[in-house]
Amino acid sequence: MPAALHHVVIVGGGFGGLYAARALRHAAVRVTLIDRHNHHLFQPLLYQVATGGLSPANIAAPLRGLLSRQQNADVVMAEVTDINVGSRHVVLANADFPRINYDTLIVATGSQYNYFGHPEWERIAPPLKSIDDATTIRRRVLGAFEKAELETDRSKQQAWMTFVIVGGGPTGVELAGALAEVAHHTLARDFRRIRPQDAQIILCEGQVSVLGQFPPDLRQKATASLARLGVTVRVQVLVTQIDEHGVTMKVGERQESIAARTVLWTAGVVGSPLGTALAKAIGLSTDRAGRLMVEPDLSLPGHAEIFVIGDLANCSHQTGEPLPGVAPVAMQQGQYVTDVILRRLEGQPPPGPFHYHDRGNMATIGRASAVADLGWLHLSGYLAWLTWLFVHLMYLVQFQNRVLVFVQWAYCYFTRDRSARLITHQPPDHPQPEK
Ligand SMILES: Cc1cc2nc3c(=O)[nH]c(=O)nc-3n(C[C@H](O)[C@H](O)[C@H](O)COP(=O)(O)OP(=O)(O)OC[C@H]3O[C@@H](n4cnc5c(N)ncnc54)[C@H](O)[C@@H]3O)c2cc1C
Repeated sequence: MPAALHHVVIVGGGFGGLYAARALRHAAVRVTLIDRHNHHLFQPLLYQVATGGLSPANIAAPLRGLLSRQQNADVVMAEVTDINVGSRHVVLANADFPRINYDTLIVATGSQYNYFGHPEWERIAPPLKSIDDATTIRRRVLGAFEKAELETDRSKQQAWMTFVIVGGGPTGVELAGALAEVAHHTLARDFRRIRPQDAQIILCEGQVSVLGQFPPDLRQKATASLARLGVTVRVQVLVTQIDEHGVTMKVGERQESIAARTVLWTAGVVGSPLGTALAKAIGLSTDRAGRLMVEPDLSLPGHAEIFVIGDLANCSHQTGEPLPGVAPVAMQQGQYVTDVILRRLEGQPPPGPFHYHDRGNMATIGRASAVADLGWLHLSGYLAWLTWLFVHLMYLVQFQNRVLVFVQWAYCYFTRDRSARLITHQPPDHPQPEK
């Protein structure tokens, strides 16, 4: 590949970055995709790995493999720690290979969970963002039932069988529904001293309802579906403390504590730290969620050669509000910026501001129930679940994974079994209360 070709560096091989790289496959440019992981991850199905329904390899695919046929693309596995906008290079956390120069830069490093000023809670209440997070949760959930089986003290046993999920957005709802399935069906006959059906799954949400971004009728249906599955939904509660013993929350003027050895965190997100570093390098500020304000063409003010897309971008020109942090926004933005770049290189006029085509919002609740807001149509129950299933299979990036996930789901649906419920690290790593 001639070195003189325009060099597009993409940081982040998630939905935004990967779709941008692929959209450049026929372009006369050099593409370098940098990610700290060697794989693209389909985050919407992480909860299935966390609850033993799918294996990690079903929802992740190696970036090198995905781009192996794309001759103009190179993959670098490294963490980008900084961006030097003056000399146009990214800084890598790799002493042997510390920098990569760019002509155009696309930053698509996504977001991470926000513990709202309590980073110490993360040790107790893991987030669900990566494969490692999902296997940690799987280990803790399955490990909790093992501990409960051996526990002779009634109240300690109850604490092992109480699972609190903080955050009632789509991820919290999906995780709570799947956990209820695991406890009440999958594990129902597996233990001799405990009844997994007695496990308590409590979903805590600060707002008036779970799934706040859905219309009221679908929120109500989701709440009813969760209740049918045996999930206790607590709304308008503010978590004030999380430790090895459980969760304390403010309910109106009252404080309430729940003894629980397994707490999971699915509350708000903030932009990735690289966004903050980039904002500092350019002299911009980020919004409250750590996102960078982008121009209507998704470039940064004063830096037409740098684009920020996906969860890290605050793109507000379309509605006055930031676009939601969902995969279709990132994918469409990834494709759009490549159009801007190629038109520039060909001396053509720019394509006009980015416009998000919103095809709807979905969340699944347990085995065969979901809610889907398609704008013109609200679906719930089985039909919504079938729609959800079809869309998620469609967007898995590898055909092989689509087939594997379909077979696995069909098996899971008919048997209620979750064959990936392995505890892969010993001992299970719940933080220990002090003696
Ligand atoms: C559990 C969960 C469930 C979700 N469910 C849905 C859903 O059902 N539907 C939906 O539309 N959206 C869903 N989302 C949101 C969706 O996944 C995100 O909106 C989407 O992934 C954003 O794409 P992105 O490209 O901006 O970032 P990501 O897809 O998160 O990709 C960011 C990439 O950047 C890499 N990276 C980060 N920092 C660095 C660095 N410093 N150096 C190198 N690489 C770096 C990461 O490894 C990652 O590969 C879900 C998210 C989660 C966590």
